[in-house]
Amino acid sequence: MRLLLVEDNVPLADELIQGLQRQGYAVDWLADGRDALYQGSSEPYDLIVLDLGLPGVPGLEVLAQWRAGGLVTPVLILTARSSWAERIEGLKAGADDYLSKPFHPEELLLRIQSLLRRARGLANQPTLEAAGLHLDEGRQCVSRAGEDIQLTAAEFRLLRYFMLHPQQILSKSHLAEHLYNGETERDSNVLEVHVNHLRRKLGRSVIETHRGQGYRFGGVVE
Ligand code: CA
Repeated sequence: MRLLLVEDNVPLADELIQGLQRQGYAVDWLADGRDALYQGSSEPYDLIVLDLGLPGVPGLEVLAQWRAGGLVTPVLILTARSSWAERIEGLKAGADDYLSKPFHPEELLLRIQSLLRRARGLANQPTLEAAGLHLDEGRQCVSRAGEDIQLTAAEFRLLRYFMLHPQQILSKSHLAEHLYNGETERDSNVLEVHVNHLRRKLGRSVIETHRGQGYRFGGVVE
């Protein structure tokens, strides 16, 4: 999953980027509201974390303009601790959730996981399940019928995306755009290698190849 973090507090942004990357998210970071206004609506993000106190254009205005332009990406806003008025304004402007500063990074991660599931119509699942597999996002481990199957960081990242989009044909370029951030080299051969590793671990039929179109996750589990 690819996230945009808009936060002008550099030490906080650094900490959040590291935490999010450890959880397998590709993160693009911006510190200015003007840049966010443009990039947030032109790149295919899965979720946006938006600070409200920003240079350039204030976060509330950025959010209102995104929504007015038809952007449906889930947005979690970061607000000052005491400002209930800001939180209300943020929710009215189209935020999906909020966190008040200071917050524990773990809480941000859990809220992001939950928002991403909700955005995919999986709000009823406390954890991610598809095709007989159960993904533990905290431990970055998948299990089937109670048996753990270990994953590398790259396999976890890819499998999570598949499990959030079961039965959909996903092209390699779509996957690359949503798994890697703007600065990473997007190599479709690397993607093929990870798909093959996942098949070896989970069974060949879990990920089908549709020639010329891409991959489809969620076939019959062997
Ligand atoms: Ca700020």
